[in-house]
Amino acid sequence: MTNATRFLGTATVLVAAATFAKGASGPDGERWWSHVAVLADDKLEGRNTGGEGHRKAALYVAGQFQKLGLEPAGTAGYLQPVMFKSKQIDEARSSLVLVSKNGEEPLTLGDDAIIGSRIDPAPALEADLVFAGYGLANSEAGHDDFQGLDVRGKLVVCLMGAPASIAGSLAAHMQSGGERGDLLRKLGAAGIVMIPNPKNMDIPWARSSLARFMPSMGLVDPMMDDTRGLLLGVTVNPARAEKLFAGSGHAFLEILQAAQAGKPLPRFALGKRLKATVAVKRAQLESQNVVAILPGSDPELKGEYVVMSAHLDHLGIGEPIKGDAIYNGAMDNASGVAALLDVAAILKESGARPRRSILFLAVTGEEKGLLGSRFFADAPTVDRKAIVADVNVDMFLPLYPLKRLTIYGLGESDLGDQVAAVATELGVAPDPDPEPKRNIFIRSDQYSFIRRGIPSIALKVGFASGSPEAAVQKRWLTERYHAPSDDLKQPVDKPAAGAFDVLVAKLLERVANGAERPHWKDSSFFKRFAE
Ligand SMILES: [Zn+2]
Repeated sequence: MTNATRFLGTATVLVAAATFAKGASGPDGERWWSHVAVLADDKLEGRNTGGEGHRKAALYVAGQFQKLGLEPAGTAGYLQPVMFKSKQIDEARSSLVLVSKNGEEPLTLGDDAIIGSRIDPAPALEADLVFAGYGLANSEAGHDDFQGLDVRGKLVVCLMGAPASIAGSLAAHMQSGGERGDLLRKLGAAGIVMIPNPKNMDIPWARSSLARFMPSMGLVDPMMDDTRGLLLGVTVNPARAEKLFAGSGHAFLEILQAAQAGKPLPRFALGKRLKATVAVKRAQLESQNVVAILPGSDPELKGEYVVMSAHLDHLGIGEPIKGDAIYNGAMDNASGVAALLDVAAILKESGARPRRSILFLAVTGEEKGLLGSRFFADAPTVDRKAIVADVNVDMFLPLYPLKRLTIYGLGESDLGDQVAAVATELGVAPDPDPEPKRNIFIRSDQYSFIRRGIPSIALKVGFASGSPEAAVQKRWLTERYHAPSDDLKQPVDKPAAGAFDVLVAKLLERVANGAERPHWKDSSFFKRFAE
């Protein structure tokens, strides 16, 4: 109770939260941390999708679900096996060469550019390069980077990001893999060459380029592959991008300045071709989602499900940084799965009997492109129409006390209003996404549910812009995000995590008890996906 008092602050709130206090170690965060400590241990080897460490982690989660007395809701007990194909670029047998009238200029793989394997690359390709602004088109946004441009059989070069004039959620959706894939296929493009905007890079190039040594994965079912039909995907180091523009009459710097000033980006042929030779190592493997249900109490509504999801996978073992090759993913996202287990325990202990059922879902393949959640949303183990909401927790960063809550998707559905109400009740200030440009709302597993029309939300411990907390999270992203140092040795705020779990438990209970299922707002872009 003392820790609860510290978090909740006011007496009235204590009464409201009383059902969660009984015997729960929740608010001090120790139980949460005990799960993180297991899942982010070196023994689990970074929980790579398809790896033995992930399998052990899945079995741990299943075991915890069982201990809590939740019902198994996978296709094999608590597990839902998912089949993946893995692809890894064999750099020693691959090359990229810029071809212009002045001759050939080889690009150094890793330093100048990297060949992506998410788009299944053709063994050999030579195609014209065309710069097409942000590479986006959407009539609703009144934006078309391809107007008057013929990109059939060509490689579309673009700056990552979207014009500031387009609303956050629409811009985020336009940049999603599914939308990009559909657009490029429709235009007949051979592939895409992306240049990150240094201003929006979460991870410095030197570190992000190391990820190319890890295999990418896709779902075996081709209809679940957003990039089908494309032949090449390349990412260019922005610090080396002028090579592409030399001789075109334009400079990359000019593009960046135009983007910074919110001016339209030019569209032009680069007057060069890119010649790619790509060797790929392929394999098939299985990895598991883990699914459990806390059954509802209402005879009718128990057939509806409020989902809480969190991804279990991380990056596995990769290139060593400072002598450490295990990418433990303690915050990304052992923390979220630990929250899922803690929330389930809090609800169990509270004796609450919500009317709708609550479905706890730990998914695989998030780091490979939201694949485990995509598989679940496309082939759910319960009737999809009966899934009323998804509350996703990914890297919620309890690095400082929970005074604010960042709600991704706050304005999109009445689920947002419900989170805001629960947060306010607990003395926590609800905030919209402070950095809409980073596309968080479509960058984690909630997007798999959004695409299926299901109102969704993602939550993190919030911060006020310009505050010391903002600096802490910024530094965390630069130094630890997708690095081996996201491990058990980092400082975390356990009571913040415990308080966060109480908040999520209250939210799930509230949604599960709601008279109506959540719905998208009429103004929401995402409403169109609702069946
Ligand atoms: Zn991640």
